[in-house]
Amino acid sequence: MEDRTRLVAGGNLLQAHSWKGMLEACGIEVELRGEALLGGVGELPADLQDVELWVSESQYEAARAQLETLNTDSPQWQCLKCHEMNEGSFELCWHCSAERSERLS
Ligand SMILES: [Zn+2]
Repeated sequence: MEDRTRLVAGGNLLQAHSWKGMLEACGIEVELRGEALLGGVGELPADLQDVELWVSESQYEAARAQLETLNTDSPQWQCLKCHEMNEGSFELCWHCSAERSERLS
């Protein structure tokens, strides 16, 4: 049995399912885990929290890269200096030329 690594934790069920589908489309095998999933399938709330995605260790890097691609789909970032919104492709704020800096949530 191959070792598995936790890829992400704390997503909700809908998000986890969309990630799972996306990763599986890339040939990465994904396992959904979560406390609430133990309770039986079929009546899960759509906003279920604390879902975890697990992948095999050998596919972890590829899975991470795929997730990062997905995350860059949220294209804008906000300048911490002047609070202007900038397109994701900008490395400097168009407004005040401050370097791109983001709060990591
Ligand atoms: Zn700025």
